[in-house]
Amino acid sequence: MKVVLENLTKRFPNSNKKQPEVIAVNSFSFEIPDGKLIGLLGPSGCGKSTALNLICGLETPTEGKIYFGDTDVTDLPPELRGVGMVFQNYALYPHLTVRQNIMFPLENLKGDKKLTKQQMLEKAEEAARLVQIQDYMDRKPSELSGGQQQRVAIARAMVKIPNVLLLDEPLSNLDARLRLQTREEIRRIQRETKVTTIFVTHDQEEAMSISDLIVVMKSGVIQQIGKPQEVYDDPVNLFVAKFLGTPPINVFFGSVKAGKLYIGKEAVLDVAGVEDRDVYVGVRPEGFWLAEDGALTCNLHAVEVMGRDTSVVSDHEALDSITIRSIIPAEEQVDTSKSTVRFNLKPFKVELFDRETEERIYFEAIEPSRVAGRDMVSPDGKQ
Ligand code: ADP
Ligand code: MG
Repeated sequence: MKVVLENLTKRFPNSNKKQPEVIAVNSFSFEIPDGKLIGLLGPSGCGKSTALNLICGLETPTEGKIYFGDTDVTDLPPELRGVGMVFQNYALYPHLTVRQNIMFPLENLKGDKKLTKQQMLEKAEEAARLVQIQDYMDRKPSELSGGQQQRVAIARAMVKIPNVLLLDEPLSNLDARLRLQTREEIRRIQRETKVTTIFVTHDQEEAMSISDLIVVMKSGVIQQIGKPQEVYDDPVNLFVAKFLGTPPINVFFGSVKAGKLYIGKEAVLDVAGVEDRDVYVGVRPEGFWLAEDGALTCNLHAVEVMGRDTSVVSDHEALDSITIRSIIPAEEQVDTSKSTVRFNLKPFKVELFDRETEERIYFEAIEPSRVAGRDMVSPDGKQ
């Protein structure tokens, strides 16, 4: 079922009366397509949980509307919206068994929805199989690992076959290995059931890896919506560029003069069409290639061999980040006897941002092989 948010806004009064209200969710308008998994992503406190609570009905919006399909559900109580909700802390009933926990949402169905005990048991079994917890039905939550408890919580949220599944940082309490495994599990369950799902996280890698679309938020405001790769490749502002990617994007202070981009005193790239101005220059770690006569000269700190590729750690006087991390193919050799390392920049991995507004400044990236009189193609022919 598609979910449509129209100008959705939630303001909280500030506990300190002299301070202005907190706008936790500020004019959200977007449509979540039927059957997709959406990653709602942003730093702690940006309004992710509030957005989810509005969608499930635990909070009432100050303004705006929520539609499930074509039905306006803005004034419906949570139990009539048909949502399944999973929280970070599992929130299982400790005195009930796994089976009883999963069956719980079915116990209170009324009228023609009322189920017999046998039907409830069958549905609980089915939901348990979906999350592969069927062998633990008689245990209490305290007898399960964190990952297993979270699977029970997911089964409980799925047992009524919700219109929409809402997951609020469901993996935060799990250790690294379980986190990876459980997120793949969630993706599989979502694909199998095709239930429209909103997955909230502050972890960009988590959101990028499982979402059909990501929604990046900052201070209650949506910054950008798109496919993970598109948002990574084409961020609309410096915040989004910095928020996505590990290692993060490298940011330099730069300036544009007469169609050339300068970092420090060095002209590093042609950026035809950009007027003269100060900019932030974002360069993805994979946006550098080693070149003995490279345009950008950096102070070499360390070369970390990672097997498949090599991470070069360096710095530069015009750097806004702490260090420069560049990832280069393992075959390329860095001369570690030198105190400097020189790079050329890959135009499609360089992004410019206004120094004041931090909004993206677009330029026509020219494929390096076509730059007249200058061979900037790396040895393996890659850009
Ligand atoms: P996130 O889930 O992204 O960490 P939240 O949605 O929990 O963020 O919070 C967003 C903002 O709204 C925060 O500044 C938070 O302090 C504020 N907030 C959340 N709930 C309430 C509330 N019930 N009363 C007042 N302020 C709240
Ligand atoms: Mg939260």
